This record gives sequence, structure tokens and C-alpha cells, in this order.
Amino acid sequence: MTNQLIIFDTTMRDGEQSPGASMSRDEKVRIGRQLERLRVDVIEAGFAAASDGDFEAVRAVAEAVRESTVCSLARAIERDIRRAGEAIKPAARGRIHTFIATSSIHMEKKLRMTPEQVIENAVAAVKLARQYTDDVEFSAEDAIRSDEDFLCRVFDAVIKAGATTLNVPDTVGYSIPALLGQRISNLIARVPNSDKVIWSTHCHNDLGMAVANSLAAVMGGARQVECTINGLGERAGNAALEEIVMAVRTRQDVFQCDTRIDATQIVPASKLVSQITGYPVQPNKAIVGANAFAHESGIHQDGVLKHRETYEIMRAEDVGWNANRLTLGKLSGRNAFKSKLQDLGIEIASDEALNAAFTRFKTLADKKREIFDEDLYALMSGEAPDAVERFKLIYSKVHSETGEVPLATLTLTVDGKEQRGESSGSGPVDATFKAIEQVANSGTELLLYSVNAITTGTDAQGEVTVRLSKNDRVVNGQGSDCDIVVASAQAYLNALNKLHSKPETAHPQL
Ligand SMILES: [Zn+2]
Repeated sequence: MTNQLIIFDTTMRDGEQSPGASMSRDEKVRIGRQLERLRVDVIEAGFAAASDGDFEAVRAVAEAVRESTVCSLARAIERDIRRAGEAIKPAARGRIHTFIATSSIHMEKKLRMTPEQVIENAVAAVKLARQYTDDVEFSAEDAIRSDEDFLCRVFDAVIKAGATTLNVPDTVGYSIPALLGQRISNLIARVPNSDKVIWSTHCHNDLGMAVANSLAAVMGGARQVECTINGLGERAGNAALEEIVMAVRTRQDVFQCDTRIDATQIVPASKLVSQITGYPVQPNKAIVGANAFAHESGIHQDGVLKHRETYEIMRAEDVGWNANRLTLGKLSGRNAFKSKLQDLGIEIASDEALNAAFTRFKTLADKKREIFDEDLYALMSGEAPDAVERFKLIYSKVHSETGEVPLATLTLTVDGKEQRGESSGSGPVDATFKAIEQVANSGTELLLYSVNAITTGTDAQGEVTVRLSKNDRVVNGQGSDCDIVVASAQAYLNALNKLHSKPETAHPQL
């Protein structure tokens, strides 16, 4: 057994299935480049057959990323596999990840197939995928609730058909560590030629055990773990990449393996994904939470100052905290700005785009003395060249005074035409949203409103996420500004603009 643990990141496929977390093509390319810097082994960039937009996004990541394998998901049906095969064609290394359900409940109720038909379909899918690439992964969806004898038959058949990675997912987050570890080691012991393939797992966090289950799979012999940045993913999420990587690295004495990950890129990756998807990271989240390395207790602080290892098992800087915090200031020029964006992996399409971004940067630098990496990410994520901008904020004024009812007045452009809205509300943000609705009349429901300070200090930019739903569709809008009422208005309008762009297509779960 090798001592390398393959890290398979599915932030852009499984993570994208969190409500409202869908990513545009350009956003996927930015995340893809960051995952490459993080030295992720395999990047699952999407489900190419879902729509033309999904196909284009996978293809764009395959073109942009050189160092990591780029993968597309495909159901075990011909069209899906052909679309996946086409989408990964430009990749330096491309993988097709095909799957079919193997639990009785899924076979009977969802697929309406007999076990024999499921095996037939799995084999045909793997054989077809092998015509596009030598790197084919097969997943037995809902493997944890599948009969072990049947799983052995399926895996035996797909190894013969040419699968090179076999994934044992806990699709519904039902397993517990001891059982998942046992399941993997049983399969490795029972399936013929199991040593010729890489065994993998993919765990969901419905019972809060995604990371623990994944690590138990590693103990059982799995050498690939599927995971996501910040644990983003369907329902309660997926196994958090940063936790898996740091657990294995910190406890190599136990796991006897390690990853290729450059851990100093973990925090930048976490921030980028949080900013793009609008999913904030809880402060007490392991590794990437704002408090993960903060020692409040005096006894702890004293210990850490005298000898760090008294209370710290990892160093904050090893996972990318405090690296390059201070970035630019008011006096920074256009070239410094440009090269900093390049360092951060932010692509600028044209000179005009650079000029526009530089103007926004100067405006921000006037309000805020020091500009940090996080500010630049926020500044640039406001620019989505492929988003339709139906609504745009031109002007806003909010009156808020003790004992008075807050009042918001604003001017928007709607399809280029100026319109004015005015409303009172229970607070300045409420008044602003009502004034926007007076113009937009969108019929949406507000599901979530959250404000986060991007950096420390009272002059920090506020980053606002607004989640809206309409007719079962959910979108997240983001806005950032030193004025949180303006940031709120921008986030709301960003969400409305997203609702106006092309509807998303249904994606399969795994
Ligand atoms: Zn999943």
C-alpha cells in the first residue's frame, strides 16, 4: 500500500450543490487555480452533462489547470460519459468519474433496475469512459447501505472493465467511523485484484461524522479521500479538506501516510471559496475558523508564549494564516495592484477591466487605510463578467436616528433605465430592501441575511450575503463595502441579478 493519500476535491461539484452556491465559469477557473496551488491531486470541476454552462465550466477548468487532474462526474449512461469525456479533453490529465446506485432502496425505487442490470450498466459505463481516458473512477452510490456481497460483485466487474479508482461513498451520511473503516478493509480483502486500484471514500456530514468517517476509511486502507474546502456540500456538507489534510499530517504516527497538499494555501482557499459561494466560515471551525488559533485563556497564552507546543499542535502560519496580510495602501500604483492580483491568481481579462478594477481599488483605499488580500478578493468578486446585470445601484441614502423610523431612498437602473424607490423599515437594512422591492417587485423570499467583517478594524469592509428564493430556486448574492447598508443593497441586487440569469439545472447527488 502506498503512503500517499490522494486528495480529491469536489468543492465545485458536490459543494456547488449547497443552496445558492452555484459558481460561474470564471469563478470555477479561479477556484481551480487556487486548488492547483494547494496541490490538490484531483479536481472534480462539475457535472458536464447537466447543461451547456456546466460543460463549459468543466472545460474551462480543464484548460486552465495543468498540475492537478481535472475530473467530471457522469451518471452511468452513454450521453453523460461522452459529455464528460469531451469536457475534460483539454486537461493535461483528465478523469471521468462515473457512478450508479447499488443499494436495494436506490436500485428498486429510483433506478427501477435489477442488480444484474446495474452491474451491466456500470461495466458499460466504465468501458466507454476508458475510450476517453485511462483514469476512470467508479462510485457505487449509497455504498454504505448496499449489500456487501453485491458490492464485491460490482467492484470486481468494474475493475475488469478498467476502473482505476473505486469509491465507496456514504451518500446519505449514515455511517459511523468503525463501520466505514471495516467496510473498506472488508472490500479490499474480498474483491479480486483490489491491490491494482485505489480505494476511495466520499462522506457526508448529516450526523457530523464526515471527517471522522473519511479518516476511518484511510485507516481501513483507502488512499483517496473526496472532500471539499470548508466542508461545503449537499445538505450538512461534505468532509472538510483542511481537516482531513491536517489530521493526517499532524498524526502521521497513526495514519502512516501523507498528502501532497501545500498547507499554506489552505486559508487562502477557504477565503476564496467562502467569498465566491457566500457561505461564511464559522469562527470556531477547525483550521480555517477565525478563532482556530486564538488563545483567549491567560494560562494558555502564557504557556504558548513560553513554549508554543504546550498548547498548539499546529502552527497558524503552516496553514496559511498571517501570510502576506498587509497587501496594498492608498499610494500603491497600478503596477503593484496588477502584480498583486496576479499573485492572488485573479485573472484580468483586458486593460479596460484592469482600469475599472484599479478605480474601484482607489475608491476603497480612500476609505480604508490598509488593503488586505481579503479586500482584493472581495473587490474582484464584485466583478462577474458573465453575470447579467439587470439591476444596478446608482445612489442610496438612508436616514437612521434614535426614536425615528429609518427611511431609505435609492435610485436603481433597471435594464439601463433609472428608477427611484423609497421606503421606511424596522432598521436601515430593512428599509433599503423594501425600497429595492418597491422598484423590483421580485416576489422573492429572503431566506438568509448575514454580515461579516472581512478584516479586523472598524474601517473593515462588511461582506454581506443575501439568500433569496423564488419558485424553488435559491441564489446567494454578495456585496462588500465599508458601508454595510451599501454592501447590503449590493448583495440584494446581486441576488436578484442571479435570479434573472439562466436557471440552474438539476444535478445528481452522490
Ligand atoms: Zn456527495
